[in-house]
Order: sequence, then C-alpha cells, then structure tokens
Amino acid sequence: MAPGAPEFLDGVDFCFPVRRLYDRGRVRLNDACASCARRIWVVVEDGRLVAVEPTAAWHVRAGGCGVNNVFCRPACAAEWLEVHRFKAAERGPVHALWA
Ligand SMILES: [Zn+2]
Repeated sequence: MAPGAPEFLDGVDFCFPVRRLYDRGRVRLNDACASCARRIWVVVEDGRLVAVEPTAAWHVRAGGCGVNNVFCRPACAAEWLEVHRFKAAERGPVHALWA
C-alpha cells in the first residue's frame, strides 16, 4: 500500500469489483506496458480470460490506492518498481487473475 493510504484499503480485494462488473459479455482491454510501452491486450468473455498478449504479461498493484499496472513481462515490472521505489502489494501473471 502506498505511504499515506488509509489502512482500511489494506484489506480490500481490488480484483473483486472488476470481476463482478465484467462478468457478462466480452471485454477487451487495450493497454501499453507501463515500463516500455509495448502493446498489451486482454480479452475476457463472461468472466473468463480468453486471450492475453503477450502471454507473459504481468500485473502489479502498487504506487497508489489500488492502482493496477500491466507490463509486457516480469522484468519490465521489476524495473518499474525499482525506478519508482514502490513496494508491490500484489504481483503476478495477468492470466492468473482469472485462475
Ligand atoms: Zn515492457
């Protein structure tokens, strides 16, 4: 959690609202790696992950109140965390968010 963030946010599962809001229909996220700007896209259909490109895409929750960032690969995430001196509250492969 970011310094200064209210303590009650520590226990909030920020993935829950996203999964609940997008559990019907087809959702496509077009984004860019927060470190190198490589294109990243994710397709979710009826609450299930259909595709993610690149397949090694990585997510990190850090740097603010539940701010999620996506990266093209774990190394880009590690570099971003080091440059910004953020401590990751959560991190892992994007595909694992729907596991
Ligand atoms: Zn990258």
